Amino acid sequence: MTFRSLVFSLFCFAVFPLSLSSADSKPNIVFIFTDDHCEQALSAYDNSRIVTPNLDRIAKEGMKFTRCYVTNSICGPSRAVIQTGKYSHLNGFVRNGNTFDGSQQTFPKLLRKGGYQTAIVGKWHLKSTPQGFDMFDVLVGQGPYYNPPMLSGGIDAVATRNENVGYTTDIIRDKALDWLKEGRDPEKPFMLMFQHKAPHRNWQPGPKYLTWLDDKTIPEPDTLWDDYSNRASPAANQTMEIKQHLTESDLKLVPPKNLTPDQLDAWNAAYVPKNEAYLKKRSSMSEKEIIKWKYQRYVKDYLRCVKSVDDAVGSVLDYLEEAGLAENTIVMYSSDQGWYLGEHGWFDKRWMYEESLKTPLLVKWLGVVEPGSECDEIVSNLDFPETFLDAAGLSIPGDMQGRSLVPILKGDVPKDWRTSFYYHYYEFPGAHSVARHYGVTTGEHKLIHYYHVGEWEMFDLKSDPDELNSVYGEDEYKDVQASLEAELGRLREKFKVPEDPEPAPQPKKEKKGGKKKAKQN
Ligand code: CA
Repeated sequence: MTFRSLVFSLFCFAVFPLSLSSADSKPNIVFIFTDDHCEQALSAYDNSRIVTPNLDRIAKEGMKFTRCYVTNSICGPSRAVIQTGKYSHLNGFVRNGNTFDGSQQTFPKLLRKGGYQTAIVGKWHLKSTPQGFDMFDVLVGQGPYYNPPMLSGGIDAVATRNENVGYTTDIIRDKALDWLKEGRDPEKPFMLMFQHKAPHRNWQPGPKYLTWLDDKTIPEPDTLWDDYSNRASPAANQTMEIKQHLTESDLKLVPPKNLTPDQLDAWNAAYVPKNEAYLKKRSSMSEKEIIKWKYQRYVKDYLRCVKSVDDAVGSVLDYLEEAGLAENTIVMYSSDQGWYLGEHGWFDKRWMYEESLKTPLLVKWLGVVEPGSECDEIVSNLDFPETFLDAAGLSIPGDMQGRSLVPILKGDVPKDWRTSFYYHYYEFPGAHSVARHYGVTTGEHKLIHYYHVGEWEMFDLKSDPDELNSVYGEDEYKDVQASLEAELGRLREKFKVPEDPEPAPQPKKEKKGGKKKAKQN
């Protein structure tokens, strides 16, 4: 050490000791979030389709939650719940298409008030301009998989649009790394929301993985051939079947429209030969063979998108280690909801059934969370903001409706932890025609009310984990049903859920010329 640097170090120590020690004592937070990523495609949960070594690193060094439920299984609403810690009917964002009221209390604003520097990179999807962030650089709307326009700004900066060329997952990764390396204030603790568009519909792989898995056959789920019998009518009346609702663009039988010439060349080199082989034999294939082909095409593209996310997560984890930040940084991984990878014959989400009710949740916090630990308590995206505030040593506002996971992360489940969970989905009429419903689950039994059609379902999740046989109204389950009905009433009252003011829609006459193209959500 030279004399000059020694003097400088002593000077820094004398002048900045408080700010340095406060940054040291408060953990940084990196909240990694994806769109529509289910446990079935994350090898820490299920390695039958894909290996995700980098996401698995978070699980190995931290805690894996096996029952993380979302309050409303759809993109924008899940994000609004995380911003506010409140159910959709209270934060005002009940369905996609709503605009988030950014003037309300949110966790980034509270963290910022508590001395944190806050940033978000990637998907926002709440229509309004992000508030409460020192820096944001977010996709405009849904955002494409390639060459995304983004909107950047912050507390002290006017929002401006920037154009980008490349694969969106990689661009979001690079922007997050740039901010970690050069954008943030090293004297403050930080909270970075690192948010991916992938693997949302329509599952466009990046250049690196266009032909990955070509030589593999992905296993089919047991319920791919579900006939929707023994349930209420909504299960059969949706429009999210692999069999008949995937478009040519979903199936990559036509290329994406916004690629550069080079990107298009790489795309066509990968897909044209596969498409030609399929189209040549399609007329001689049975209906079942065509569904099987669609399933393989759809799931492989989804997994390819996940693979790029896993790579991007690895880059950020590596950087945190290299920069000496890993020790004092909480890394949390989750998705806005779960997803159907062919279960019940479906793609998409929305239902209170397990695959879309559950979302992955992995949390790494070195020195606090026991590495490789697992938690099967009922937790929720409703708990995320309370957890961030608690970890930062800040108080949790009384009007937030979830609970901090910090005690659980420390290995101590509070005695009065929840044993039941309330769910509510509102987006009907809407994409994929899933009836409005609410319900309660205990993790062992589940009661669902499709209130516009006046039908109920009840499942015994132990004996029927795939939810193929509703036992609602059966004598054998009389007591369970009565107790779930009472619990449903209690939770609706506790969470101040009003009657849905939207009247039940009347059946529409279908126009000649077929159905309107399904909107992407
Ligand atoms: Ca989503």
